[in-house]
Amino acid sequence: MIDLKSQTLQEMTDTLKAMGEPGFRGKQVFTWLHKGVTSFDEMSNLPKALREKLKASCTLTPPKVARKQVSRLDGTIKYLWELGDGNCIESVLMQYRHGNTVCISSQVGCRMGCAFCASTVAGKVRDLTPAEMLDQVLFTQLDSGLEISNIVLMGIGEPMDNLDTVLRFLELVNHPDGMNIGMRHISLSTCGVIPGIRRLADLGLQLTLSVSLHAPDGETRSKIMPVNRAYDVDALFDACHGYFKKTGRRISFEYAMIDGVNDRDWQADLIAAKLRGMPGHVNLIPLNDVVESPFKPSKRVAAFQKRLEAHGITATVRRSLGGDIDASCGQLRRKAMEEARKGEDSQ
Ligand code: SAH
Repeated sequence: MIDLKSQTLQEMTDTLKAMGEPGFRGKQVFTWLHKGVTSFDEMSNLPKALREKLKASCTLTPPKVARKQVSRLDGTIKYLWELGDGNCIESVLMQYRHGNTVCISSQVGCRMGCAFCASTVAGKVRDLTPAEMLDQVLFTQLDSGLEISNIVLMGIGEPMDNLDTVLRFLELVNHPDGMNIGMRHISLSTCGVIPGIRRLADLGLQLTLSVSLHAPDGETRSKIMPVNRAYDVDALFDACHGYFKKTGRRISFEYAMIDGVNDRDWQADLIAAKLRGMPGHVNLIPLNDVVESPFKPSKRVAAFQKRLEAHGITATVRRSLGGDIDASCGQLRRKAMEEARKGEDSQ
């Protein structure tokens, strides 16, 4: 079966031509799929025979809402989607003054093993397809009735562990005949996979790169982020400087503040020293308490921010949304998996 929705417009046109159809059918089908139709029968300007042909040869499995939680505090909506094969992933819709932002997943689970993160507890199950990434944006918009203007790739998974798919997703979601979301409205977050950062630098896309730094010194970083053993933090800073030189785009550094681990003044000083020559932005994140993790939120967020600012570094503290609905990465999926397991145990 063909995963038509993961194809670019050119590929779709070629697929339809190979079925003996005229080239313009490609654009018709592309437009329908990117509107979020859930069956080929809805493609009313296609001949019935072609709709039947597509049904017989192509998959179309939109995600189902397995759970939906709406925050009473700020309207943040968390979706747990069930995919065609029964796996579940999460997306979060946040309403900011500058527009509605959806945070999407790139993999089912994650194999990066960050010690403080709920998404990686049970490892990686599989990569998502481009269509499954696009569908998170599309169906969040359709279900909520809120127009999405921004996307952050900060949900479950490591985008640079599935970069070919992510790049194809970007091409799809950016397409003028599709959702047409501008690259400048998209952020991609990585735990620090250096070859991916280099590849992205060469492509020169106008998106915002976020790097999950979480510690400026190798010793601390290796303890909380296994990726640091493969791609050391100094090499990571080199890659970031290279990225800035090539693209001229400011990188955003994510920094989850963990009590007694990465919240010391000398670490703020070290961040400043390593960023010299590049206009970085440090986004301090109050640590979300993950049940499985031994780490506790730092009480030094404001002091750390001041210390960075004293060095001339732009540092912001991330406003936490959806605090009442398990809105941070991987938590809802973990909960659903736990409940499913308990259900099986009690049968
Ligand atoms: N794999 C990518 C994107 C997904 S994680 C990456 O690592 O960047 C999105 C962000 O949430 C990352 O910065 C991640 O480190 C952070 N994060 C994970 N668990 C967290 C927690 N318990 N508290 C605060 N931030 C967390």
